[in-house]
Amino acid sequence: MSDSRKRDPGDSQIDDLETLVEGVMAGDRGLLARAITRVESRHPEQARLGQEVLARVLPLTGGSMRIGVSGVPGVGKSTLIDALGALLLERGLRVAVLAVDPSSTVSGGSILGDKSRMPRLAGDERAFIRPSPTAQGLGGVARRTLEALLLCEAAGFDVVLIETVGVGQSELEVADMVDFFLLLLLPGTGDELQGIKKGIVELADALAVNKADGNLLDQARQTRAEYVAALHYLEGQREGWKPQVVAVSARTGEGIEALWDLVQQHREWLESSGVLAERRDSQRRKWLWRLLEEGVMDAFRADEAVRVRIGALEGAVRRGERTAADAASELLSVYLDKTN
Ligand code: GDP
Repeated sequence: MSDSRKRDPGDSQIDDLETLVEGVMAGDRGLLARAITRVESRHPEQARLGQEVLARVLPLTGGSMRIGVSGVPGVGKSTLIDALGALLLERGLRVAVLAVDPSSTVSGGSILGDKSRMPRLAGDERAFIRPSPTAQGLGGVARRTLEALLLCEAAGFDVVLIETVGVGQSELEVADMVDFFLLLLLPGTGDELQGIKKGIVELADALAVNKADGNLLDQARQTRAEYVAALHYLEGQREGWKPQVVAVSARTGEGIEALWDLVQQHREWLESSGVLAERRDSQRRKWLWRLLEEGVMDAFRADEAVRVRIGALEGAVRRGERTAADAASELLSVYLDKTN
């Protein structure tokens, strides 16, 4: 157990900027967790402290392999991350696991990133597991995950795995913060896309049909062949990497090494082609704009003059008495007149 965890969690000394910065830089998991908690905090002072830590350690970020792992609940994400993580630890790499789960904003908690479902990682000092943040923080769940990712990099983790559920918006955001996006699939569900949005398959750098073991083995192979055929139609739309489809068993470990080889091949291509630098560049730019959009909308919604007018105008638009363009234009001038 690290020193920080032995201290009283209420000890305000731990919240000191220098302690957090040095702790993160030293790879202290307890202080890293604390820094992430600050970044996620809804308490403005704590959140500011989190941002200060982040700003200080920023020069140390960017060095990890960022891998997104997505798929429907039950496909085997936790099991696969545990198996892959164990392999990476064996190879001397430090592994962090972060979870993005927008549903945790409803349930108040999440099974993603659950330590008890990743026993090999949870029991190893070189691994760090961070479950989904709950709803309380500022900004979107994905934004806080990006900041947690940067903190993990500054703490020296070689590989950061980001787990997300393959339904909804979150994996689009995850795909925008990783270098390699892996989509897990279930065997035997035919060629339909298992409730996963088609756009998601197109974002994947690799598809892995999991549970290729026991009496599911044949089905898994069949499903793999179907996806190989389906991906054929997507060829030519990518930057030069042909997405691969593999069959794996997270339970037995079969295919996990081959999957890691694939990630490494992809890495070599990313680096030698210059795509890694371009992708990171455009990801940072997108995040800047996403945060600006969020911030501008928050300020707009919070504006008193806007709040006074918005209900009536929205009603008029809904009833068809005013056009949306007309109402938007009035609200924007109400807002801009005040801010100018
Ligand atoms: P998640 O919801 O995507 O994180 O899925 P889990 O990792 O919790 O796995 C869901 C269930 O599938 C669990 O009962 C696992 O034991 C089982 N499972 C996961 N991977 C495999 C696999 O490779 N083969 C088989 N047969 N079962 C698996």
